[in-house]
Amino acid sequence: MADRDRDLSGLFSPDRVAVVGATEREGSVGRAVTANLLAEFAGEVIPVNPGRESVLGVPCVASVADADADLVVVAVPPSAVADVLRDTGEAGVRDVVVLTAGFGEAGSEGAARERELRELAAEYDLNLVGPNSLGVMSSPAGLNATFGPDASPAGGVSFMSQSGAFVTAVVDWASESGLGFNEVVSLGNKAVLDETDFLREWGADPETDVVVGYLESIEDGRAFVETAREVTRETPVVVVKSGRTEAGAQAASSHTGAIAGSDRAYGTALAEAGVVRADTVQELFDAARAFAAGRNLATDGVAVVTNAGGPGVMATDAVGDADRLSLASFADDTLDALDAALPAEANVYNPVDVVGDADVDRFEAALEAAISDPNVGAVVLITAPTATLAFGDLAESAVALGEEHEVPVAACLMGGPRLADARGTFGEAGVPTYFDPARAVAGLDTLAEYDERRGRERREFEPFDVDRERARETLSAVTERRDNQLGVEAMDVLDAYGIPTPEGEVVEDPAKARAVAERIGEPVALKLVSPDVVHKSDIGGVRVGVDPADVADAYEDLVTRLRNYQPDARLLGVQVQELVDVDAGVETIVGSHRDPQFGPLVLFGLGGIFVEVLSDATFRLAPVAEADAREMTGEIDAAPLLRGARGREPVDLDGVVEAVGRLSQLVADFPAIVELDVNPLVATPDGVRAVDLRLTVNPEELQ
Ligand code: ADP
Ligand code: MG
Repeated sequence: MADRDRDLSGLFSPDRVAVVGATEREGSVGRAVTANLLAEFAGEVIPVNPGRESVLGVPCVASVADADADLVVVAVPPSAVADVLRDTGEAGVRDVVVLTAGFGEAGSEGAARERELRELAAEYDLNLVGPNSLGVMSSPAGLNATFGPDASPAGGVSFMSQSGAFVTAVVDWASESGLGFNEVVSLGNKAVLDETDFLREWGADPETDVVVGYLESIEDGRAFVETAREVTRETPVVVVKSGRTEAGAQAASSHTGAIAGSDRAYGTALAEAGVVRADTVQELFDAARAFAAGRNLATDGVAVVTNAGGPGVMATDAVGDADRLSLASFADDTLDALDAALPAEANVYNPVDVVGDADVDRFEAALEAAISDPNVGAVVLITAPTATLAFGDLAESAVALGEEHEVPVAACLMGGPRLADARGTFGEAGVPTYFDPARAVAGLDTLAEYDERRGRERREFEPFDVDRERARETLSAVTERRDNQLGVEAMDVLDAYGIPTPEGEVVEDPAKARAVAERIGEPVALKLVSPDVVHKSDIGGVRVGVDPADVADAYEDLVTRLRNYQPDARLLGVQVQELVDVDAGVETIVGSHRDPQFGPLVLFGLGGIFVEVLSDATFRLAPVAEADAREMTGEIDAAPLLRGARGREPVDLDGVVEAVGRLSQLVADFPAIVELDVNPLVATPDGVRAVDLRLTVNPEELQ
């Protein structure tokens, strides 16, 4: 998987395809794939089967060595696959699709076989799809090297799927939905080639207008994100990632860990990579169809033109709810044109209601007026079946107008068979059709979202000046902890990374506590320091505003509490800490959680002791560039508090942004940091201060 610079085009444009395991046995994979290949492929199909003279009328050869092929499709029993790969490699063929199942998905024996496959692929430098793949298809080549459905209808969508059954279903459905495919791959077990490889391949392929993926996992998260960042500058990528809900497997050793699950990591990573994430299969293909039309919104204004009042209102509501769209307000010329074209009872304002008795001419005139308006970036055309309208004709003029003005059109055909003509006309022209107005609007919103991302400058993280060595030394205290946890005793890590902290010290007896408090010279905060107490205030382990004179008593009191609540807890001492004016500011949280696929995720949110309950947070991958950190501060529900709600002074946002950036650098610098919570990072008008710290550190990774 390391070598990402492969040329995979050979998989989709072979001249001679060998099918190893070709047979005539009814219901077998070997027969189905041979028959599919023979159906349309313009090149040669060479069945490989030492036991037969011919398969489906085509002469056989005995082994890959005799086939002179440039693509090998493997459909032999699992135990025979390795030998076929060896033959393939020796024959100098690089492109292989393994349909055979019974590998990684089939217990430890299968997993061992899959390892062998991987080793052979590395040895012979094979571009190997599968195993356990349904196969690959290419419309331009007329290639259907699958044992699944009929060939896909041709178009600009390239589609990868981790589920073979899903390929079958989608290709079948696409033939009547107006979606056409360029290349299709069923990824199977991804022993060698994975989603990142095909993403890269299709990003560089001029025939691919949209990349669509159905994924259950992403193998190499960072490589995927980096590749997708590049690809999505030119080519829209839409992915549905299944397996969204997961049992809360995270032991709540930190606030961030409790909030950040792996689904969150996927969501964050896909968003940062510019990938449009669909939640449902429906959304996946709605988005794909919107992109396949290949048009952008010149402006965010949407015109709704309808012959049915209710659905028009629904579309209008959906535009209102959409993040990036607004209802266009028409220019005077447009209103005049609409006035002239429509009867008195029609509504000329957006949404334009041409009224139920509209014929094609009236509808077309309204559509033309709306689509020509400079404030209109997209049109939602809604028709319900009426007796007065020839829907096929309307579709034709709508298609023509859309093309002439280069404005995206989403057609809501709110009916069944009576609108079949129109559906066909739109489908052929690549105009997406929907039943539900909300879906039509969502499709346009997706286009707008993609445009916005694509137009954005690339954000690079600018590293801060930090004392990495000092941080490393502080973190190495974890080697003495059996549970890998560090708390406020490690606050120096923050200092080393330039994150402001209040003055403070961890002490081990009441007299020293009092001495520190007197040095600070005003009321202080006292906190129990114990690796066994995750949330100190839960057991009354935090005292705020203690007078220096009372510090020694408060110290004893805290220790007694610990002994009462958790007799076995280890006690490292008590932290005496300068008070921070929490009332003048906002308690925020900055945290991090290391995802196995995507690396450290950074969280920013409303902090304090109720973090999980409020769950008001936003995420990025580390390190977080300044522009992203600033965006994060605006994304949480509590953002108005930071900006100074109800006459309060705004907090030091620059300070918050910098702290997020510095902490993101810390977790990016130290893969050993599994989890980190700075909660709260108190943000006041005068600056920010980290008053609490929680870290989980893997000592084995600490170099
Ligand atoms: P824990 O999260 O383990 O309960 P914290 O150190 O975060 O412990 O303290 C809990 C709460 O006490 C904070 O959210 C904050 O409201 C308050 N607090 C803690 N330290 C200070 C301080 N130095 N100055 C002012 N308030 C503090
Ligand atoms: Mg805390």
